[in-house]
Amino acid sequence: MSAEFVAKEFPNTNFSSPRKYIWSHIRCQPLFAFVMIIGSFGNAAMASVVPIFAGRAIDRVQDGDGVAFAGYIALAIVGTQIFRSGVQYMRNASSEIFAQRIERDIRDELYVSLLGKSMTFHDFQPVGEIMARVTNDVREVNFMMNPGFNLIIGSGMFVLLPLLVAPTIHPALALTPLLFTLAYIVVQYRYILALHVVAQEVRKSFGDMNARLAETLEGIEVVKGSATEDYEVSQFNSLVDTVRNWFVRQGDIEARYLAILLLGLTLAGGFLHSIYLYDAGEIAIGDIVAFMGQIALYGFPVFTSIFSFSRVASGLAGAERILGIINTETDLDQNTMGHSGTIMGNIRFENVDFSYVDRQQVLFNVSFEIEGGQTVAIVGQTGSGKTTLTKLINRTYDTDSGKVLVDGINVRDWQLQSLRSQISIIEQEIFLFSRTIAENIAFGRSDASQEEIELAARRAQAHNFILSFSEGYDTVIGQRGVTLSGGQRQRIAIARAFLSDPEILILDDSTSAIDSATEDQIQKAIWEVAEGRTTILITHRLSQVRWADKILLIKKGRIIAQGTHDDLLKHSDAYRKIFARFED
Ligand code: ADP
Ligand code: MG
Repeated sequence: MSAEFVAKEFPNTNFSSPRKYIWSHIRCQPLFAFVMIIGSFGNAAMASVVPIFAGRAIDRVQDGDGVAFAGYIALAIVGTQIFRSGVQYMRNASSEIFAQRIERDIRDELYVSLLGKSMTFHDFQPVGEIMARVTNDVREVNFMMNPGFNLIIGSGMFVLLPLLVAPTIHPALALTPLLFTLAYIVVQYRYILALHVVAQEVRKSFGDMNARLAETLEGIEVVKGSATEDYEVSQFNSLVDTVRNWFVRQGDIEARYLAILLLGLTLAGGFLHSIYLYDAGEIAIGDIVAFMGQIALYGFPVFTSIFSFSRVASGLAGAERILGIINTETDLDQNTMGHSGTIMGNIRFENVDFSYVDRQQVLFNVSFEIEGGQTVAIVGQTGSGKTTLTKLINRTYDTDSGKVLVDGINVRDWQLQSLRSQISIIEQEIFLFSRTIAENIAFGRSDASQEEIELAARRAQAHNFILSFSEGYDTVIGQRGVTLSGGQRQRIAIARAFLSDPEILILDDSTSAIDSATEDQIQKAIWEVAEGRTTILITHRLSQVRWADKILLIKKGRIIAQGTHDDLLKHSDAYRKIFARFED
């Protein structure tokens, strides 16, 4: 169970290990992979024929009859190279398409997986770190395909061809390519192992840096307000240094690249061997040229693989981090087999205990009941657990012990989609997307017409202020809704609730500083939206508390009194105290 919601299944993908994951993606693009391999082979073959042709021409010229023949050879070389540029184009184009498709698919999978994770998962995952994975780590997998695999396959053909061609010149000449190939495999294998560890650290340090950046920008008001820019800069610097250090380590490993030494040894060894065979009368001068031309092909794999293999190491490290998210188990499941149906609106808590992961207990033995259609106010000091309590109703979190029942059915037995789609929570901090006002109101109801949106806004007392913007409903809200005041944001959220028409509405109205004209409007909007559904209001406003059907008084995670306003005034000292505070 690794997701709360599975928006989309990926039956062709194997998530069990980075290697299998990559491979399952490669397999999904067989055409492009095939063209890439064919193109690579064609390219290498056309490179390899040039010294063979040249060798033939030299032999014929030496024999004294070759000048005309050399002309034909030159033409043939031109022909093969034109063909070569054609296959080269095929290879590069298809490997780019191949890589981009894989990047798209992986990013898609990661996004679907992220949206499916429970709140408990997201609570503990820094946003910037996730962003680094979705953007950069996925990109690394793309680079692993192209230029990574593209060059490895392309240059691999340059390793293969001398193995095939050299023995046709003379069987003994197979020796040098054979030794080179074996040594090359060992060297590359060790190289990639050494790189892999460092590549992991590079990816991780990059993620940490991103997390810090995102968090600082998110809290920029606080940073400026407390004038801690210098401190933040120095903290950030040290993370940037870490990233640099790991990149330098990677560069260091790349710099100590043994394959170049190997190339030198191979060139020298091959040359000696072919001269020896010539001396023994086994081969002709032209054969030496043809053979050395084959050995020279190794230059391409040796020089490109410094780069291409490190792309693979980074890509694997990236894939590992992507899978790290996708495969994280979360503690909620969507319960597709669970109960679904229209909610009537009865909510019951039975002896509920709750704590956030690894934290102290927040709710203690909470029990109460709300009849369908009632409006209930929750009153209590900041930090007493009011918001937390409401999050148990739609299973944003699950209880530690005790039960939360909706319509007499434990919320764990509800199909999550059915349960959540009928419960709306207007959060204390209202989050608006950087989209138009109309889109924000219609969030979750993308089918709503302009008339419906306007009607909802009117009922939420938002229509007038929306029209005061020059672009009206098409006004794009700034990042995190900063262009709207708290009261305006709240009314947008209430308009959203009118439109989505949930059976249960939870309104976390703990925001205090709102002028009294606005307060009246919000008051009206809340009255109207509470009509005909179960409504839970978290509020400090006496005007709202007073007309609630029931009031829950909560202190340090325990319900210390419940009843109507009049009941509580009569029977609860604590309530009277709060009431007194409200009065002045
Ligand atoms: P209220 O809404 O009454 O102000 P909350 O329900 O927000 O109170 O918080 C109750 C307690 O739970 C507080 O001590 C708070 O620090 C803690 N808390 C709230 N949200 C989280 C969270 N996501 N992770 C861990 N602890 C939390
Ligand atoms: Mg709260």
